[in-house]
Amino acid sequence: MNCENIFTKIIKKKIKSKIIYQNKKVTAFEDANPKSPIHILIVPNKIIKSINKINKKNKNIIGTMAYTAIKIAKKFNFYKQGYRIVINCNKYGGQTIPHLHMHLLGGKILGKFC
Ligand code: 5GP
Repeated sequence: MNCENIFTKIIKKKIKSKIIYQNKKVTAFEDANPKSPIHILIVPNKIIKSINKINKKNKNIIGTMAYTAIKIAKKFNFYKQGYRIVINCNKYGGQTIPHLHMHLLGGKILGKFC
């Protein structure tokens, strides 16, 4: 059975995407439908379906994803202006791709969300 989702294909470079950063644990790439001038997705290379699947064993990946987001914000010079990090979870949270991902949004003043 082929369980690959679109993000797995991007990670494995089976489909084209603008990859910003990749290491053994995570991949960061531009969102295909950006909601702000900067919209980057940071995903674990190994599939975790949603943040609900974070447990004692794999919880460090969230820190790695957040640290990657901060490094990208520094590298692309929007660190001081500020940015937003979002993780959607399941239907009510607006998650459409069943592969844990962190949205890194920046490049403009973002509307107050909560
Ligand atoms: P979600 O709604 O699940 O939190 O976020 C999924 C994100 O993936 C959306 O912002 C959407 O634009 C993005 N996306 C969906 N398909 C693709 C794709 O094929 N390539 C890229 N780069 N982004 C995608």
